[in-house]
Amino acid sequence: LRSELGNVERLSLVGQMAASITHEIRNPMAVVRGFLQLMKEKSPDSLDHYYRIVMEELDRANGIINDFLSLAQNRITEKEQCHLHQIINDLSPLLWADANLRGQTIELVMDERVPKLNLNAKEIKQMLLNLARNGMEAMNEKGKLTIQTRLKENQGAVELIVRDTGIGMSPSFRERLFEPFFTTKAKGTGLGLALCLSIVERHGGKIEVESEEGQGTTFIIRFPFAES
Ligand code: ADP
Ligand code: MG
Repeated sequence: LRSELGNVERLSLVGQMAASITHEIRNPMAVVRGFLQLMKEKSPDSLDHYYRIVMEELDRANGIINDFLSLAQNRITEKEQCHLHQIINDLSPLLWADANLRGQTIELVMDERVPKLNLNAKEIKQMLLNLARNGMEAMNEKGKLTIQTRLKENQGAVELIVRDTGIGMSPSFRERLFEPFFTTKAKGTGLGLALCLSIVERHGGKIEVESEEGQGTTFIIRFPFAES
């Protein structure tokens, strides 16, 4: 089962985002305000609990602002010839640290034939981190995250694949994945995949999703090397 989103959809998504951003940031701010008031009135015992909620909500607001800015700054993408494997290697200590905390494993499968591509390394890192974190968040402690590269010579493309053995998703959720603010997580921003899609499109690429409920999810990003 696959789904793809084109340019037209993405542009209208950015428009929708501008409308929702105010609302999305007001929510955590209202919670912070309410709890700060409670902290003033209530017993010292409850302070720890309120403090944690306040911090979480501030982090959430911060996350929304950061992701939104990355998404909004999509006009100029400076690219240079980079090795996808270099980007993956740079990121892998961070990914391993995350995985270790969760008791999960990571497998890297690198196709040595993959050529350098014209990329914005910072954006690709951000995209990969988002996809990997989503994968980890979808898995229990026995989960395995696979990051793979694959040269598709006959298609003139390189594929970057991020696969998890997590909960998967229903077809109706899969349709909405890339919508800004679509999240099924209590502390999610729902901006991660919107940002990934925007990054992929700025690189002239495509992103596809295959998912089976209870089995796992695979994201396939295809970069044409004609772009290089
Ligand atoms: P967030 O992670 O903040 O919720 P994202 O845009 O990164 O926002 O993801 C949106 C939603 O897509 C998630 O809340 C989740 O429901 C679903 N999702 C994303 N990646 C996966 C995955 N690997 N497995 C299952 N569901 C996923
Ligand atoms: Mg996410």
